Amino acid sequence: MKIAVCVSHVPDTASKISVGSDGKTIDPNGVTFIVNPYDEFAIEEALKFKESKGEGEVVVISVGPDANKETLRKALAMGADSGVLLKDDNYRDSMSVAKALAVQIKEMDARLVFFGKQSVDYDNSIVGQLTAELLGYNCISVVVDLKIEGDKITAEREIEGGREVVETSFPVVITTQKGLNEPRYASLKGIMAAKKKTIEEKPAAENINLIEVVQMKKPAAKQPGKIIGTDSSAVPELVRLLKEEAKVI
Ligand SMILES: Cc1cc2nc3c(=O)[nH]c(=O)nc-3n(C[C@H](O)[C@H](O)[C@H](O)COP(=O)(O)OP(=O)(O)OC[C@H]3O[C@@H](n4cnc5c(N)ncnc54)[C@H](O)[C@@H]3O)c2cc1C
Repeated sequence: MKIAVCVSHVPDTASKISVGSDGKTIDPNGVTFIVNPYDEFAIEEALKFKESKGEGEVVVISVGPDANKETLRKALAMGADSGVLLKDDNYRDSMSVAKALAVQIKEMDARLVFFGKQSVDYDNSIVGQLTAELLGYNCISVVVDLKIEGDKITAEREIEGGREVVETSFPVVITTQKGLNEPRYASLKGIMAAKKKTIEEKPAAENINLIEVVQMKKPAAKQPGKIIGTDSSAVPELVRLLKEEAKVI
């Protein structure tokens, strides 16, 4: 059984992000890229499923430029068996990413597909659900607990103030949330083994964007802080400013 895991290559949230000279993209210079953190839960769950069955093949897939191979390689070091890079250097909206993934998943006939719940770069939280719809697969999103017994898939989803328990069957797309598992670190042995694993490269399916990025801008700069005093004599002025200037009390 082939198990697909879709992974995005995202800027590390600790990186300083600047808008590119076109005003529409992120300037990649000086930015460290990582495996999307939610996708690590997806990789871990796929590996756990394979290990529990003692069979299967975990294939990690990414849509994007050559740089995404770095993220695929990290997933291989965690234990995935092989990778597929669906190459495209150009902007793709979420639907166009989903279409490329759906073509690949159909071709490899993976009936269990994992996604992160959200890509921490563009935050649309939609690629998994779109892919499921395009494939005609069942879909359970934001999963924090998963049990697969035979054809029965039972998942717990995080909802406002609690959890919802749901059941479905194969073929299925699962989108993973923090708390589902504790993603493993790549061991030195895993990192060495990953160098020999295959990453197949092929052009991503046709790119037809329905959404266009017209502008990207940074949030307005924060006002500089103000030191009113360093002892209790500053309290009356602090209270006045909180009331009259900040208007928070
Ligand atoms: C080369 C390239 C350049 C881009 N440039 C821009 C840009 O400048 N501005 C802009 O707004 N958008 C850009 N995008 C689009 C943006 O990167 C995608 O929408 C992004 O891949 C997913 O973000 P999302 O918020 O739609 O994902 P979400 O729906 O939040 O992601 C959910 C899950 O889907 C999976 N997933 C998401 N993306 C991918 C992927 N690429 N490959 C495999 N699995 C994936 C992951 O499992 C992820 O956890 C670009 C895309 C590409 C391929």
